[in-house]
Parts: sequence; structure tokens; C-alpha cells
Amino acid sequence: AALLAGTLASALTLHLFSDPVEIKALRRDLLAWYDRCKRDLPWRTLAATEPDADRRAYAVWVSEIMLQQTQVATVIDYYNRWMQKWPTLQTLAQASLEEVNELWAGLGYYSRGKRLQEAARKVVSELAGRMPRTAEDLQKLLPGVGRYTAGAIASISYGQATGVVDGNVIRVLCRLRCIGADSNSPAVIDHLWDMANALVDRSRPGDFNQALMELGATVCVPKAPLCGDCPVKQHCRAWRRVEKELAFASQKLFRKPAPVLDVEDCGAGGCPLCPPATEPWDSSLGVTNFPRKAAKKQPRVARTATCVLERRGCQGALEYLLVQRPSSGLLAGLWEFPSVPLAQDLQEEKQREALADHLQAWLGQPVPAGGLQLIGEVVHIFSHIHQTYVVYSLPLDEDVTSDPASSPSRWVTEEEFHASAVSTAMKKV
Ligand code: SF4
Repeated sequence: AALLAGTLASALTLHLFSDPVEIKALRRDLLAWYDRCKRDLPWRTLAATEPDADRRAYAVWVSEIMLQQTQVATVIDYYNRWMQKWPTLQTLAQASLEEVNELWAGLGYYSRGKRLQEAARKVVSELAGRMPRTAEDLQKLLPGVGRYTAGAIASISYGQATGVVDGNVIRVLCRLRCIGADSNSPAVIDHLWDMANALVDRSRPGDFNQALMELGATVCVPKAPLCGDCPVKQHCRAWRRVEKELAFASQKLFRKPAPVLDVEDCGAGGCPLCPPATEPWDSSLGVTNFPRKAAKKQPRVARTATCVLERRGCQGALEYLLVQRPSSGLLAGLWEFPSVPLAQDLQEEKQREALADHLQAWLGQPVPAGGLQLIGEVVHIFSHIHQTYVVYSLPLDEDVTSDPASSPSRWVTEEEFHASAVSTAMKKV
């Protein structure tokens, strides 16, 4: 057992940065590249120029929440509008959820905006407007702030020497150290956090973390990484393995004595960080052998009938009925056309009846199922739901008001619809 433990321990060092000289060189190479090549982004400018620590932390926090699950190019415009409208925690704390949802509309994962605003209220009311000053306190005290966001805020805003691990960092570190076990497994995630904390540059932690993420976003990308341009390739074991294989192949071609192929796997059975024995290194994949993920769960398939109810408003313009979703759960608090979930394989006639019953509850009067016009279907993919909206329309002749006893509803013009807190799925509808 002692021998096995010893073998495993030495094997694990293959997945570590254990040489202080190499760590220093990696920090230097990565930061020099970042200084030359970093993208000019509004939150970076704010973090670098804002003298007030609370404002700086707030500016970084907003960007980090918006960037979760969303591309940089999409976030920039939302970020600029948000910071213009609510430049401080105090101004955000005074905003209504409706305003937050309106600005967030189209950015997806709507609970992020809601939680950001709740957390801002907490900082103002319970922490005297002062942001917590360490990653540990940020994570402990702010709702919606996890380990990654806390590390990003603390390192970028306060210069705390703490690492971060997000999707980009996972990819880069797994390639640098040939980590091929499931990158979502707790053993791998713990290992990556340890590595990120050991690697982070002590004098420029915020820049180092951003550089690592920037490398993953622009060079060490998922499908076709630009290894030739990579500033840290000499520290990358996945790249080294590919280079060795190429050298090996060319030596074989010219019938020179074949060098020994120094395989970068641990060679010790049972290493919790190597690829599973059943899925060894695949030469055709090169560095993209890493990272590996366990098979993703299939998204749930759902169908929903939705109706665009239309009436002529008192100004003569067409108006559409919107109703508000419950304040918790998917798309909480957003507005939508009246919608009802459908059982799978429900016949069209039954769909109409279900929708007509639902509309009756909103309008306070019977709705003939036969009057509903089927327009078509719209598919929208949420992170875990493959949602199909079956879209109907129903023009109403008279001035109909919806049942005020039901949860909030309102009639809006097309222009008002686009300015409302509605999801991307409803805009598609
Ligand atoms: Fe990623 Fe290639 Fe750089 Fe390695 S050499 S870190 S695989 S881009």
C-alpha cells in the first residue's frame, strides 16, 4: 500500500506545477502577453481607473455576473447601459426589480440580475454600503456570489492573491498539465483550485487571473486552439506531447532510429487526474484531448401553448396582452403572452382546449377554442430545457379587459412590448 501511495504521489506531480522556477517563468510569460494583447473592455478600464474600492468592486462584480454564461461581445452593451443607469451600489439598491428585468431582457439567466440587485440592497442596508474586502467574506456575505466571482472581485478590485477557476481556466490548466479525468468531478475541481491559487502572481493577481481567462477565451479555445501563438506553450504538457508525437512520426518516416516516446500519462494505474483507461489519449485530437467531461445530461423536452391576444386600444393602436410569470422559478417575474404547459403528444384539438381554458381565466369570459388561429412553432433552448412554443393568435373584436383578480397582466403596444421585461423566447414568439 505504501509503495502504491508513493507511486501515485510521484505520478500526481506530473499534474502539478512543482518547480518554482517554472512557476515564475509562466507568470512572467503570461503577464507579458496580457500586457501586449489584452482586449480593451469597459469593466477593465473601470477597474484600472476607479479610485474608490467599493465602486471598483461593484464595477467588477456587475461584469462578472453578466459574463457568466454569456459572450463578451453581447455583454459590453448591457454593461455600459447598466453602469450608466446604476453607477453605484446605492443607485442599484434603489431600483425596482421591474427596471432590472427590463435592462436584463435578452441577456438570459434572469435570476442573475435579480440576485445582483438583492445583494446590492443587502450591502447598503446591512453592511453600510461597504463591499466585503476578501474573497472569503464576499462569498460568505453576498447572495449569488460563489467561489469564482468572489475570487475575481477580490483579486481584480483589491489585489488579493487568490486564484480563480472558470470554464476558460479549467480548459487551460487541464491542457497545461494533461488532466484528462472528468473536469466536473470534485477531485479535479479541487485540484484546479489548488493549482490556480499556487500559480497566481503575488504582485499582480487580478491581471494574472484575467490573463489566464483571456488566454482561454482567445488562444486556448475549445475546438482549434492557436498553440503556435501561445505564450505559455513551453509550459504546456499537452502541447509537448503533440510535438513529440510529430517528431516521432517524422523520424519513423525517414527510418531514423525511433526515439522513445515519453508518454506524459502518469503510468500509474488509478491516477484520479489521468484520462480513464477506457478513453486513453487520442492522437487525432491533439491538445483537445483535454479537458474531458462526463456525458452531458440530455435537456428536458417541453411543449407550451402560447397565445398572442390582440385588441384595438383606445388610441387606435393594436395592443397585446402580457401576463407576469411567478416571482420564483424559470424566468421569474418576466412578462409573457398567456401560456400553458402541454403534455407530450397532445392532439391539436386538445391543445386548443387547454389554451382556451387558460385564456378564459385571464379574460374572465369564455374563449371559443375554434377561434384560436395556429400560427406555428418556435423552439427555444434554455440551458436544461428544450422548449417548443406552439403559437396561436386571437384577435378580439371589442375592448376586453383581463380579469383583475388574476396575477398581474397588462395590454401593451408593439413598442411597449419591446421595452418590457420579456424573455428572448417571447421575442421570438
Ligand atoms: Fe492551450 Fe495550446 Fe497554449 Fe497548451 S500550447 S495552453 S493547449 S493554446
